[in-house]
Order: sequence, then structure tokens, then C-alpha cells
Amino acid sequence: MKEVLLLKCGEIVLKGLNRKTFEDRLLKNLKRRMAHVADCEITMRQSVVYVEIPDDADADAVMECASRVFGFATISRAAVCPEKTLESVIATAKDYLAPNFAAAKTFKVESKRGDKKFPMTSTEISQHVGGELADLFPDVRPDMHHPDLTVHVEMREKYAFVHAGPVPGAGGMPIGSNGRAALLLSGGIDSPVAGWMMAKRGLELCGIHFFSYPYTSERAKEKVLELGRKLTAWCGRMSVMVVPFTHIQEEIRDKCHEELFTLIMRRFMMRISQAVAKRCGAKALVTGECLGQVASQTMDAMLVTGSVVELPILRPCIGMDKEEIVQIARRIGTFETSILPYEDCCTVFTPRHPRLRPMPGEVEAAEQALDIEAMVQAAVDGIERVQVNL
Ligand code: ATP
Ligand code: MG
Repeated sequence: MKEVLLLKCGEIVLKGLNRKTFEDRLLKNLKRRMAHVADCEITMRQSVVYVEIPDDADADAVMECASRVFGFATISRAAVCPEKTLESVIATAKDYLAPNFAAAKTFKVESKRGDKKFPMTSTEISQHVGGELADLFPDVRPDMHHPDLTVHVEMREKYAFVHAGPVPGAGGMPIGSNGRAALLLSGGIDSPVAGWMMAKRGLELCGIHFFSYPYTSERAKEKVLELGRKLTAWCGRMSVMVVPFTHIQEEIRDKCHEELFTLIMRRFMMRISQAVAKRCGAKALVTGECLGQVASQTMDAMLVTGSVVELPILRPCIGMDKEEIVQIARRIGTFETSILPYEDCCTVFTPRHPRLRPMPGEVEAAEQALDIEAMVQAAVDGIERVQVNL
């Protein structure tokens, strides 16, 4: 049976004059992502996108791919009726929705008449189709108020479709519609979630990872690249800039007071990230920071680390509990990779007593011992760019 996906656009339908720009981007994103899965015909009419699934394609994979494209509110997986007649609708519903009828005790029919030339009203269509289906499935009672199964009939311009109702899409806005940002990607649970949350709001991501070889292993780097790959299931494609960070950490360890190590190190991360962001056209930094989670994520610490950059720092996890972050990590498929036990550069040379509230000017004074500009430049020059793809 021929199947199609009907995707309803999310909040971009609220856009005024530039709605077309958003729709074009959404369609382009969907086509690019779908190209890896199947050769589907994809068209848009009246804020509904039609994905025609070829007979030889894996329809579940097509559905899965579509459900990870940001910008769609709902997805209905439907059968295409061979003809645009009530007989054809009934016959299609009988076959296509047989498993749904088998699992339901009650049902109703809801119809939409997009094709205004069709010679019946939507109520008449529902009544007729509902009556016939009630005869075909005598064990399933009609119930107009709280049915287990709602059979949807859509009389559209070209075809009639039958389905069992929409499921939620990925939501959010089309990737790229709000510009580009650099994601500071560690191997932990929080930063992939932070990246996903901002990608959902339409940001295209470029990953940055600070790598402290040999203090952190090649496998730790592989783990981060794997996290990047997992994110591409949602954001399509991404490159990760792997920044050599060992020399900087050693310099700080050798020349600055131990208690300030973490703060100074994080200020370097911010400076380098800003330099990378500017190079790749990113207009914000994204981190997985969460208020109070660790010493470097207190208000005071974030003020000190954020003050060395002018780009906005987006911290979508800032007000979330760990459990809430973990829930998202599981849902988006990054959790299992995140909990693999490889160390991060942040855990190398960690001070025994990190300073929670540095005095004004204290960190700047300590940094006098370092040639900041040269250190940042050397790190940027040593970047290895890795394209991660599904
Ligand atoms: P995460 O799950 O993101 O690792 P965390 O609680 O371990 O969170 P920290 O290690 O303090 O947090 O790091 C805070 C944020 O700084 C991370 O969410 C990430 O955005 C960034 N960060 C930390 N380490 C690195 C790294 N090696 N490379 C890039 N960014 C990093
Ligand atoms: Mg971390």
C-alpha cells in the first residue's frame, strides 16, 4: 500500500512576511536529511509537507528521519487511497487500519475536505465512512467523545488519505533559521543536550572540543566525536574543531595559583571558542553549564569566565535539574555514549580547593604571568577539524 507522511509546520506558520524564507529552509533541511534514507518526492502545499514514500523504501526509517527534523509540529503517517472516492477510502481504511481496529474498543471518523470541489461536506464524509467501518468492524463501537481510535480521512487536492492520527514532530524551528553557534562539546551528559536544545531553536551548530592529549586519551576524543555524530541525527551535519589544550593547561598549572586553575582554564576555553566562532560565522557560544552543579558553575564563576568574551553565551541547561537533563539525553540518544568512562580535560589538574568567589581583579592579576594572545593563537592554529556525519 502506498504511504505518505503529512508533516505540519510548527511555529513558523506564525511568521509574517518572512514565513516563506522559513518554509524554504525547512523544506531544504528535510530534503537533505531524507536523501540519506530514501528517494522520496517531497512537496509543500499550504504549510503541509508531503513526503511520498517509494514502494521499495523502509517506511519506518523515513518516519524516524522526519521525526528528527526540527520545525514540524506533527507528523501523520497515512495511506494513499488509490482513488478519491468514498469506496476507495473505506477499502483503504479497512486494510491499512486493521491493526488499529484490532487494538481498539471504540472509534470515530474525522474528515477534512481540503478539496472544496468534493461533493460532500466533511461531516457527511465522516458519517458515511463511519457507518461502513462500523459494519466492517462490528466489535468496535462508535464513540464520538472518547474513542480509542480516530480514523482520519483527508480529502486533499490530488489524493485522499487515511490515517490514525498525528504524532508529535521534533518541534522547534528549522536548523539554520536563527543563525549559527559554536557548541562547547565535552564528553559529558550536559553539553550534547545543550546543543540539541539550541539546535531545536533553529541554530546550526559547530562543535568545539578541548583535548588534552596525553592526559586525556584518543578514546576520550573518539567518544566526543561519537556524541557529535549522534547529534547529527537531529542537526544533519556538523564539524567538530578539536583544540589542542595540553600546553595551555600545563602553562596555567606551572604559572598560576592552583585554586584559580579551573577559572583561568575556562577563560581560555571561552577566548579560543570565540576565536573559532568568529571564524565559522557563529554568533553565540553554547555550553552545558547548569547553575551550581560544580564550583565552576556558580554565578560568580560564570561571571568571571564569561567576561573575557563579547559573544553571548547560551546556557540552555542552566535552570534544569540533572534528572531533567538525563531524560533528554536518553530521548535524543546521547546518554549511553556520555556515560562511557573516559576522562575530560576539565578533570586534569583539578585543584583540591577550587576558588568559588574570586576577588575582583584576582584572576586578571594571575593571568599576567601568561602570554594569553600567543597561547590562544597557538591553540587555534593547531585545530583539527573533523566532519562528523551519520
Ligand atoms: P558536561 O556534561 O557538559 O560535560 P559537566 O557538568 O561535566 O557537563 P563541566 O565539565 O564543568 O560540566 O563543563 C561545563 C561546560 O563546559 C560543558 O557543558 C561544556 O559546554 C564545556 N566543556 C567542558 N569541558 C569541555 C571540553 N573538553 N571541550 C569543550 N567544552 C567543554
Ligand atoms: Mg564535562
